[in-house]
Parts: sequence; structure tokens; C-alpha cells
Amino acid sequence: MSADTLFEMVAGHARDYAESLKTRAVSPTATAEQLRASLHRALPQSPLAPEKVIKALVSECEPGLLHTAGPHFFGWVIGGALPAAQAADWLASVWDQNAGGFACSPAMGVLDEVCGAWLKELLDLPASASFALVTGCQMAHVTGLAAARYRLLERAGWDVGTEGLLGAPRLRVLSGEHHHETFARALRLLGLGTGIIERLALDPERKLDPRALEAALASEPEMGARTIVCLQAGDLNTGTCDDFEVLCEIAHRYGAWVHVDGAFGLWGRVSPKYAHLLAGVEKADSWATDGHKWLNVPYDCGYAFVADAEAHHASMAMDASYLIDAGGREPNEWNPEWSRRARGLPTYAVIRSLGREGIAQIVERCSVLAARLTAEIAALPGADLLHAPTLNQGLVRFLAADGRHDERTDAVSAALRADGRAWFGNTTWRGMRVMRISVCGWQTQQAHVDQAVLAVAEVLETLTSE
Ligand SMILES: *Cc1c(COP(=O)(O)O)cnc(C)c1O
Repeated sequence: MSADTLFEMVAGHARDYAESLKTRAVSPTATAEQLRASLHRALPQSPLAPEKVIKALVSECEPGLLHTAGPHFFGWVIGGALPAAQAADWLASVWDQNAGGFACSPAMGVLDEVCGAWLKELLDLPASASFALVTGCQMAHVTGLAAARYRLLERAGWDVGTEGLLGAPRLRVLSGEHHHETFARALRLLGLGTGIIERLALDPERKLDPRALEAALASEPEMGARTIVCLQAGDLNTGTCDDFEVLCEIAHRYGAWVHVDGAFGLWGRVSPKYAHLLAGVEKADSWATDGHKWLNVPYDCGYAFVADAEAHHASMAMDASYLIDAGGREPNEWNPEWSRRARGLPTYAVIRSLGREGIAQIVERCSVLAARLTAEIAALPGADLLHAPTLNQGLVRFLAADGRHDERTDAVSAALRADGRAWFGNTTWRGMRVMRISVCGWQTQQAHVDQAVLAVAEVLETLTSE
């Protein structure tokens, strides 16, 4: 079979799959055992025709897919992938460019330059900030915090790049109680360890309490210039954004570095309706966000931005005698990876095809639908509203007559996942089991929200009558 028949086969599957997402049940239909039974075979010793491999992959994997890309998925904070982004992402594979070096692919190098500039403009971050297109928010944290680690230690007369961390001056890291675990892991990867994090109290609005930040910094004023403060642009459970205006002023008065986790929440900046929630976020020193969540590009796409471009460069740049100066920005001087996928392609395609207005519409539609979905579920019998969305995240739980609310809440979500008409995930929040409601996918519309509410209502009825 020729390559073009193989590609046509995949294109045909792509079309069928995209169509099926509208109506198919969200959950996988196969158990892990069943998937292993069909996929796990003895190491192949002889060749198999590529079309047979692809056919087998489709039929053997599909029962084990969670259909997060469709319009009925309200779990975690996971977007879908816009057709323009998917198609451009195919080009990344078709062209197989190594976007790590400008000379390796001048076109991809220039795309990175364009994406960096567009993203800063969209997110309203300083035009002078440096950037890197990384695998996701996890590595964006690593990138931003590596720059912070470099600068804070450099101020103390320590070159972490050559001297490492053994014997280095002490640093401090302050964060609210609500940071994402990827932030903690970034500190682990950077050799700072999670034990360094001092957790600060939140205020009643669930934002980092400015008095707690001021008190923590004032307790060791001489350490101010060696302190990293992590703020939240979209708390993972509630979507709450910290008060950047006030908190950046306090942090900077002590000389601290402010790092922002804006995995999804930073995208609120694109919408005139929600931008006020993020006022002052441009005053931070580094920002981490995702492309594969609210921008709805395929996975393997996040962005790091650093106000102190020199610190960013000093912490990442490397040199090798075989590199060629091709006259462009060298991605690998700003990225933690060396060879890398051309993830500028899907980013560019979404921004060019939707424009600022189209991206703002996704942010606004998701947020409006999250508010409705949360309110309508909260109005069902036995439901208890814990957080009404300010952005695209809501929290509810389900009360049980016998007081076992945690079990009831877990049972409702499990029954919904088995039902398949809508998918929700639970988490533990303030000691309670809660259902997280997230709307992040470009395909979700009012009709899907209506269907989800109906499914929750029916599941509640069934559970109550049991
Ligand atoms: C998803 C998420 C992350 C991690 O992002 P990845 O792209 O999965 O690495 C970090 N912080 C928050 C708030 C998130 O929602």
C-alpha cells in the first residue's frame, strides 16, 4: 500500500472520529485488562504492513479512549483540539521538522518568533518578555522557575549554572495553599525541593491573602530578593485569580520574583468580559500557561514567558560547535529541550484562524456555560453549591440523607461516567469530596449542557430510588 493510501485511511478515520464525538458515550468501553489482552502481544519479530498496523491500532485502541475532545467532557481542565490546530499538527508530523534549531528549520524558527509575539499581545504581557514554546504548563513552570533560580542566586553572588546548588545560598518560595502539583514538581526538578514551599493562607474569596504575603516577607526582609512568590491565574478547582495588582506590589517591594501559574486562567485576558479578573498580572516576572487546554490545540503545547529575558537566556542557553548561525532566534536557547516538535504550527493555526475575537468567544462561551451548568446542577434535589464559577470552573457536591455526602458525591460521578452522556471528575476540596465542573472545549454548546444536566438529574433519581 502506498503512503497516500495510508494517509487517506487515517484522514477517513479522523473524519469518522470527529463526527462520532458529537453523539458517542464519553467513557472508554474496555477495561484495562481487555486493552492489555488485545494490545499486549509478544515482541514482533517480523514486519507487518503499515496499513495493517494502523487498522489494528484504531480497532484495538478505540475502546480504551476517553473522549475528552468531544463536547460532553466536563472533567479536569482539558480542552479539545480545533480542526485548524489538528490539521496544522499533522503538518508537524508530515514535515518532521526539528524546531529546536533555527538552521534546522528556518520556517519553524520564524513561526516560533511569530507565536511568541502574538501570544504576548493576546495575553497582554510585556512585549519585551522572552518566551519558549514548551510541552505544557509543567515545563513552562520549570522554564520560568529556572530563570528565577538563576537570577535570585546571581544576586547573591552565586552562578547556579556552573556552581550548581550544593552549597548555594538559601532561597525562599511562597505560595498559596492552592498551587498545582506541577509547580511543586518543577521545584523538585530544579533541585529546590518541595520542602522549600511556605504555604500562605487564602482570603475568604479564595485568593492569596495580601496580609499573609506581607507578613511572610516581613518576617525575613533580608531574604526578599531571594524569594519566589507563586500566584494563581485560575486556581485548579475554582478558577479563582489572585489579586495581582496588590500582590505584585507587595512582592516587588521586598525584591521578590513573582511567578504566575496561568495554565488555563491566563486566557481570561483575551476576553474584554473577563480580563478584569487578571488585572495587574503583567506585573509578574514569569508566566506559565498551556496551549492544549483553553486554546484547544492538541497535546504537547505550553508556553513560558519571562520578563527578565537575560535571566531566561542565561538559565537555558547552550552552545555546540556544530550549530549554525542562521540569523534567527534559536529556540533551543530558550527551551529546556534540544530537538523538539514544531508546536508553533498548531498555535499559529488557531490564532490565525480564530483571531483574538474567536479565541475570546471560546473563553466567554465556556465561562457562561460553566456558570449555567453549575447553577442548574446545583438546583437539583440534594445538590449543594460550593463554588459558582467566576471563570470556567465550578464545584458542587451531593448531600445524602444519612450524612454520607462524600460517598454520595463519588457515587453520582461514577454513575455519570458509566452512563456516558457527560463526564465529570471528583476531587477532595477543603476536606470534602466534590464534583469539579469544567468547561474548556471549543465544541461545547448550550445543548450539551442541557443534556449533561438531564443526565445528572436522572442519575440522582436512580440513586435515590435504589
Ligand atoms: C493543567 C494545569 C497545570 C499543568 O499543566 P500541564 O500542561 O498538564 O503540564 C498546572 N497548573 C494548573 C492550574 C493546571 O490546571
